[in-house]
Amino acid sequence: MNIATNIQKIEASLPPEVELIAVSKTKPIEAIEQAYQAGQRHFGENKVQEMVQKQELLHSDIKWHMIGHLQRNKVKYMASFVHLIHGVDNLPLLKEINKQGLKHNRTIDCLLQIKIAQEETKFGLDPDLAQDILRSDEYADLTHVCIVGVMGMASFTTDQSQVKKEFDLLKSTFDLFQTYDINIQILSMGMSDDYPLAVECGSTMVRVGSKIFGERN
Ligand SMILES: *Cc1c(COP(=O)(O)O)cnc(C)c1O
Repeated sequence: MNIATNIQKIEASLPPEVELIAVSKTKPIEAIEQAYQAGQRHFGENKVQEMVQKQELLHSDIKWHMIGHLQRNKVKYMASFVHLIHGVDNLPLLKEINKQGLKHNRTIDCLLQIKIAQEETKFGLDPDLAQDILRSDEYADLTHVCIVGVMGMASFTTDQSQVKKEFDLLKSTFDLFQTYDINIQILSMGMSDDYPLAVECGSTMVRVGSKIFGERN
């Protein structure tokens, strides 16, 4: 498993406008360093504690993406540096991110996580509820958080037509949101097993872990 080669292969297969997030959760510092030396700058983690520890040890020009489900009381630990929070699915969380952004005198970018999969276990908002948040006066009042797109995870299935259906739903939600909010620019969908299909369906950001770093335990 050569991390640099894996990244180069994936990058070569992606259109230039699609951003590759290397999902480094559970992986050691040395693995991230190898990816960094191969030119990778965007990394994704799903636990705040782990991301903070890695951030302290690694290069300051790394862009850290929080891709996991996020608890409100954890926002403060990463508010000074997090590049993009992918998994936002409620207004109280947005308010907390805003509060922490204010404290650090920065605007924190977020994606609304939309529930597209059939499985009960996947977090996320129905597209209608996401729209309600985006258009709410409460969100409009928040000065230090910005919703810049949407994120979703497809069902864990080999049925490609099902996965495509889910990606198409997220893409149409993204398109709709773009019609009334100029900040909506990012469509985060696609993982190791389904990123080529996600890109075909219009993804602008793919989150790839095991295809870069190998299987997790
Ligand atoms: C773990 C994870 C990924 C990457 O998964 P792989 O199948 O290893 O590519 C992508 N997105 C989210 C939200 C994840 O939790």
